[in-house]
Amino acid sequence: MPLYEFHCADGTAFEAAFSMADVPGLLDCPSCGMPAKRLFPSPRLSIAGAAAYQLIDASNRSAHIPEVVSSPGAGSHGGRRHPYTSNPLHQKLPRP
Ligand SMILES: [Zn+2]
Repeated sequence: MPLYEFHCADGTAFEAAFSMADVPGLLDCPSCGMPAKRLFPSPRLSIAGAAAYQLIDASNRSAHIPEVVSSPGAGSHGGRRHPYTSNPLHQKLPRP
C-alpha cells in the first residue's frame, strides 16, 4: 500500500499507509489528536527519466562530497587509463 503524508496544524508530519481507494483527506494526528490534512506531493514536471535525475543528483553531489578512493580503478586494463579513441591510426599521432 502506498504511503501518504499528513501534516497537522501544530507542525507534526507523519505518514500512513492506505489503499488508493481508502485514503482520507483528514486523519487524526497521533500526537495531538487534531485532524491533520493530507499533503499532495508535487509531481516532477519534466520529460527527463529517472536515469537523468540520478546523473544530475550524482553530479551535484560530487561537487561537494567527492567519492574517495584508495587506488585507481582496476578494470579490465589493469588500472591503465582508457584510451580516448579505439582507432589504431590515432596511436601514431604525435604526443605532447
Ligand atoms: Zn498534531
